[in-house]
Amino acid sequence: MRALRRPNQLARLLNASTASGARRSSTAVPVAKPLTSVLIANRGEIALRVGRTASEYGIRTTTLYTDPDARSQHALSSPFAINLGDPAAYLDGDRIIEVAKREGCEGIHPGYGFHIAEREPNIRAEMHRGGPYLYWSAMGSYRSYGKQKSKDIMIAAGVPCIPGYHGSEQDPQYLKGEAAKIGFPVLLKAVKGGGGKGMRIASTPEVFLDQLESAKSEARNSFGDDVMLVEKYITTPRHIEVQVFADKHGNCVALGERDCSIQRRHQKVLEESPAPHLNEDVRQDLWEKARAAALAVNYEGAGTVEFIFDNDSGEFFFMEMNTRLQVEHPVTEMVTGEDLVHWQLIVAEGGKLPLTQAEIEQRISERGAAIEARIYAENPDMNFIPDSGLLLHLKTPKVTPTVRVDAGFVAGDEVSSHYDPMIAKLIVQGPTREAALQKLHSALEEYEIAGPITNIEFLKKVCVSPDFIAGNVETGYIEKHREELFERETIKLEVLGQAAIGLLLQETEKVEHDAFARASGSVVGFGTGYQQREFHLVEIPADGKGESTATTVRVRQTSPGKFNVEVNDTEYLNVDSVLDSASKTITSFYPHTRLATTFIRDEERVILFQQGKQYRLQLVVPKWAEKALGIKDVTNSVLAPMPCKVLRVEVQEGDTVVKDQPLVVIESMKMETVIRSPHDGVIAKVVHGKGDLCKAGTALVEFEEQS
Ligand code: ADP
Ligand code: ADP
Ligand code: MG
Repeated sequence: MRALRRPNQLARLLNASTASGARRSSTAVPVAKPLTSVLIANRGEIALRVGRTASEYGIRTTTLYTDPDARSQHALSSPFAINLGDPAAYLDGDRIIEVAKREGCEGIHPGYGFHIAEREPNIRAEMHRGGPYLYWSAMGSYRSYGKQKSKDIMIAAGVPCIPGYHGSEQDPQYLKGEAAKIGFPVLLKAVKGGGGKGMRIASTPEVFLDQLESAKSEARNSFGDDVMLVEKYITTPRHIEVQVFADKHGNCVALGERDCSIQRRHQKVLEESPAPHLNEDVRQDLWEKARAAALAVNYEGAGTVEFIFDNDSGEFFFMEMNTRLQVEHPVTEMVTGEDLVHWQLIVAEGGKLPLTQAEIEQRISERGAAIEARIYAENPDMNFIPDSGLLLHLKTPKVTPTVRVDAGFVAGDEVSSHYDPMIAKLIVQGPTREAALQKLHSALEEYEIAGPITNIEFLKKVCVSPDFIAGNVETGYIEKHREELFERETIKLEVLGQAAIGLLLQETEKVEHDAFARASGSVVGFGTGYQQREFHLVEIPADGKGESTATTVRVRQTSPGKFNVEVNDTEYLNVDSVLDSASKTITSFYPHTRLATTFIRDEERVILFQQGKQYRLQLVVPKWAEKALGIKDVTNSVLAPMPCKVLRVEVQEGDTVVKDQPLVVIESMKMETVIRSPHDGVIAKVVHGKGDLCKAGTALVEFEEQS
């Protein structure tokens, strides 16, 4: 363990200056003991978010990072940053407590997500032993009960729970019997579960035991515990949760609800407040029950009471309580106008809640609607499989009082495969739900990310989905609207034309730059520009399956800034275009309009953003070109269609194969693609084996000459 800098001396200095009044007083409420230093036990946007409020209130923050996070924004955000090394160290509560003590931190903020966020009782006990420590996110000992015990407590407090079995008997046949009593379908849930993991639906008695085993195995791997509970499965539910806050003086308020029904893999993607089409009586009842839940466990600090709302019956049931601030807390901050991290600070210091329930209701009634979209590095077309890698280009929407971006990365950062692939959160507010939704859509159109594939295009489709606009949400929304949300569009000629112009301009610029760099007095500007260039472009299939016929685009510069473009041998357009390398923008002037395209080239890939949409293209080297360049006679070869890694070779030299038989399995951008034989024949040579990295156009296997 190595500290970037030893903070102790500086800390003393900082503490001295804060003691002399630099520290802004939290509010008018009496402050038991102001915190002056805190350890942020988390990473990414969470750590940055917490750090923002901490520094606003003059609190020194110490951040933690791991080897893969050494250059991440949160590690760089504080002069006091401790390297824990091991990528999994964020989960090591004991070690984090030790670091906090050693670095002289008075409190720990756990953020959300990591297990330490739920380990408060342990931490608090430890911190007390070490001195007058405070745990910022002070919470009740609720989470340690798990989903099982908590249900007993809620039932006793009059909070409705989903019918189910949550006892300690775990014999599979016994659980199956309980499932039969509840009535199928049932949901199996890991008692220690979270983040949508360790859950399986058993729709019939026949599949019960298999689903149980599968849920248990996932729970063991994720949480090291496979105790299960069985619940009635609600077939058309909404996820509605209530943000609660309680102080040490017995005050407990509900800060409105959030509807988080748009989910994939039982994980939230969009969250909004207020929940659409919620009867006012039900809303009040939900808030009331959420407060009852918090009071039943003598709760302190920020918490979220999650309910499942049955769209068929209009009933709602307690699901679980998350004893921490949540990912989606900015939605509540938008509709209340409050800083919830500041509230946590006030509570931890022993202060009173800043607003009463009546004041909160007044605020909420005045501030309209807010909605959050989670921006993930993931591929929606491949069942939302996470992606990772370098952020080649990143342009965020313009931030205003009603458009907020909580991001953990800047351009040039790496989305690591070690952690959750969330890149940022985009939160908007509007006077009405419709207005907020429109604002979200246009902010998403401004958002540009090149590098890992993201869910931004998918989120835009949800924003314009008629049922979502109408507020007809449910947790199965994405599945039920599959056709509409995953519809594929054919690529426009403008996009291919702009890509070719961009490639030509970039190459010309490079020639000019090289000539200039050589400073040999050669004529600058003489290069590839006026020669016709031909590019073969194919849209990268989002689902890894699409057709790979490339479109041939020819482009020629006719005079400075003017281009002639041909697509598939047909003259397509004459256009005026300029490339601004700094902003990566090509501006094209058509007779009646102007088109701005962001152009990013990444080796053999071209990523374009045009009129609020992303296009991903692959440059393909045609067979004749390889031949002309003397690279190899490839007429009898099967080529890699994109830069890739060879995962498996399914044939051997001398094998006789038939058309469409699998030859090689490659991986590209985390997607597996099977390369099949284009015809019948005999394999002469396997050119690349397992583990080889290949460029687009490289021969993978060669066939014997056909007679
Ligand atoms: P919320 O209910 O606010 O969505 P989750 O329990 O889903 O909170 O977790 C918040 C975030 O942290 C999610 O993006 C989730 O994927 C991530 N997360 C949850 N548990 C862990 C963990 N043990 N390690 C790393 N990330 C986690
Ligand atoms: P986690 O701890 O992983 O967040 P939750 O118990 O909060 O687990 O459930 C996560 C999601 O699973 C909910 O938002 C909801 O979509 C779905 N879910 C949970 N319980 C049920 C149920 N009984 N019937 C139908 N869907 C459910
Ligand atoms: Mg939950």
